[in-house]
Amino acid sequence: MKHKIAILPGDGIGPEIIAEARRVLEVLQSEQGLSIETEQADIGGSAYDAHGHPLPASTLKVAREADAILLGSVGGPQWETLERALRPEQGLLGLRSELALFANLRPAILYPQLVSASTLKPEVVSGLDIMIVRELTGGIYFGQPRGVRTLDDGQRQGFNTLVYSETEIERIGRSAFEIARKRSGRLCSVDKANVLEVSELWREVMTGLADEYTDVELSHMYVDNAAMQLVREPKQFDVMVTGNMFGDILSDAAAMLTGSIGMLPSASLDSQGKGMYEPIHGSAPDIAGQDIANPLATILSVSMMLRYSLNEAALAERIDTAVGSVLDTGLRTADIASAGTQTVGTRAMGDAVVAALQSG
Ligand code: NAD
Repeated sequence: MKHKIAILPGDGIGPEIIAEARRVLEVLQSEQGLSIETEQADIGGSAYDAHGHPLPASTLKVAREADAILLGSVGGPQWETLERALRPEQGLLGLRSELALFANLRPAILYPQLVSASTLKPEVVSGLDIMIVRELTGGIYFGQPRGVRTLDDGQRQGFNTLVYSETEIERIGRSAFEIARKRSGRLCSVDKANVLEVSELWREVMTGLADEYTDVELSHMYVDNAAMQLVREPKQFDVMVTGNMFGDILSDAAAMLTGSIGMLPSASLDSQGKGMYEPIHGSAPDIAGQDIANPLATILSVSMMLRYSLNEAALAERIDTAVGSVLDTGLRTADIASAGTQTVGTRAMGDAVVAALQSG
């Protein structure tokens, strides 16, 4: 079966890092029997410049028709003064909601070769491999009513609403249980059930699901404790599942345990396994066009895409191994360089991964 992949390079370093990820796909296609068809489209600020909108209808159509989407990054200072609805980030948010990409998968993996990049002690982080599953389309970021109102005494009051229906909780719960099943079989659900009714329901639904997934060991943790445990003893976690806002915060903290933003991929999935794959970093306008951006997070996003949307786990493994072997040789882009390593540019790092795939 031919997999359809939509490729959306976006802004800033997006086109440079996507170019390297494309080369990885091409090698797998020409030498490893991967059957794909790709179509490229505009998103973000560059889409606004070309079409007057950060998510043009033509891009949405390409994304809808694809089995998976590979995205670079969006944003840049030149578009920050546009009205909110036309800003580059709206392209991303629009895609997530139009395609109902409700499950955000954020792995935090520390490669042994990069252990010194973390600000935590090596013994605390070496071997770290966590998957945070964050609900992405509900919770307080979308709950109604919301706004700023004026009270009787004349002062203004801001308000947002934290809501989760049973269906929404069950949907993200199932995704997390399935992922835990494919990993070590341990799942920690993070909530604030000691204070919030929404969290009480969240905990109840997760506990109910555990009866169906008897091979997965479910535990619960309050979000404040989870934040503390992530920096105290992060290796106690395997898969964590949580709501939108808690996940937003915890996944950034987990990412920083690895110390290298240029290494971390992410996925946002719908209920059928269709997904959008992208590095967690932004468009890095400060280094765009200089051939110094790290393409590895994007290349590892291709690996996630093969594993989670295209059912090609063996090829995903080949990419992961190739990246590991390139790091073993001491090659580093500037963001992950340290004493004794050899600094290379975006293109040369892509060359090295392609060569490792060809020899592996
Ligand atoms: P950023 O992630 O773009 O950059 C933060 C720092 O990390 C910068 O110093 C940058 O040079 C560096 N960096 C990021 N990716 C790198 C890579 N692959 N290799 C080497 N260094 C890298 O975050 P920011 O500066 O806060 O935001 C810049 C723009 O990106 C903004 O317009 C923001 O809205 C947007 N943004 C987009 C996304 C996305 O597309 N998903 C995510 C975050 C931020």
